[in-house]
Amino acid sequence: METSYKRRRFLHRLGQAAMAVPSISFLSMDAYGSNLYTGRSMEEIINPQQNKKLGIALVGLGSYSEKQLAPALQTTLRCKLTAIVTGSPDKAAKWKEKYKIPDKNIYNYQNFDSIKNNPDVDIVYVVLPNSLHAEYTIRAAKAGKHVICEKPMATSVKDCEAMIKACKEANKMLSIGYRLHFEPHNMTMAELGPKKTFGPLQKIIAIDSQEMDPGVWRLDRERAGGGPVMDLGIYCVQGALYTAGKNPISVSAKEGAKTDVDKFAEVEQTMDFQLHFPDGLTANCHTSYAEKGNLLRAEAEKGWFELQPAYGYEGIAGRTSNGKMDLQNVNQQATQMDDFAGCVLNNKPTRVPGEMGLRDVKILMAIYEAARTGQKIPLKL
Ligand code: NAD
Repeated sequence: METSYKRRRFLHRLGQAAMAVPSISFLSMDAYGSNLYTGRSMEEIINPQQNKKLGIALVGLGSYSEKQLAPALQTTLRCKLTAIVTGSPDKAAKWKEKYKIPDKNIYNYQNFDSIKNNPDVDIVYVVLPNSLHAEYTIRAAKAGKHVICEKPMATSVKDCEAMIKACKEANKMLSIGYRLHFEPHNMTMAELGPKKTFGPLQKIIAIDSQEMDPGVWRLDRERAGGGPVMDLGIYCVQGALYTAGKNPISVSAKEGAKTDVDKFAEVEQTMDFQLHFPDGLTANCHTSYAEKGNLLRAEAEKGWFELQPAYGYEGIAGRTSNGKMDLQNVNQQATQMDDFAGCVLNNKPTRVPGEMGLRDVKILMAIYEAARTGQKIPLKL
């Protein structure tokens, strides 16, 4: 009863998205014959493996777990919340009650490795401050679990490589929490650019800025690995790359002036950076913790297309020089987690693998190097 209700809701979600696209065919099939946004083949959508839901353990019960992932996991078809990992007994009690999590599925950071013996957990989702992503991804892989790791994948290229190696050695899948790869507007940008629907691209503009409260780990270099570049600039990098449909060959960057030197004592307040693509195309990107901005825009020979806002959990809106993008917003986190569960269940590669996270961290590190040196930094991706 409950499952069929959820299934109806999902089909409703999918149907809404499918019906709302008069001119842009975003419901294309990927290499596996799966729907681009759900990873499900039509056969799987019509006849999902009702009884098989993978168990997910959320590691770190901060804002993103509490407000986005756990609620999304109440709507997923292929996976469900079965365990939590937290350092706070208060949070453990609250989550236990709210989500009916048995004591045997509640872990802390010390006894986390014993999750190895828990058959209720198939996937560990690492939702910790950036500097802890590598440690918990590697520990999860060693415990024999598949892993979703939040963005940015890690605070160094070396850590990303170690995470990929650990998952390979354990024969477990690793994906990054790149929810926008499951978002219709963003994936429409990823179709319009490479397909040259408006002709060859001439320019990409990507802006992601948010005001940041003082005293949080995101302003602490050790735990965040950097400032807005790591947290928000990564969306500009991602947006530019999927809109261009290719990787950049070099980057240049300039750090903006600090208007609050105390708040931004350890990390940049603002960064402007350019991603240079092989055919002369440039993406002009801007990210800041001291203003608001949210845009992904492409200008091409025969028109333009853009999202504003582009990167939020909901309310994404798109326009082109031919008119509005008539697309629905979906529950990105539910679709992303269901897609990964589907990949695990069907032994198919994820669209957002660790290698993509590594590529992006290489670009983020090159942005910092470019800003530090004033040089254009070549990329080997
Ligand atoms: P948060 O500060 O709200 O939560 C962090 C959690 O980690 C807290 O529960 C905290 O108790 C725990 N923690 C454990 N060790 C810690 C330590 N040493 N220092 C600080 N906290 C520690 O952060 P968040 O917004 O939930 O972000 C967590 C991760 O999720 C980050 O990597 C972030 O980039 C990512 N994130 C992704 C999205 C997305 O849209 N994909 C959105 C928000 C956050």
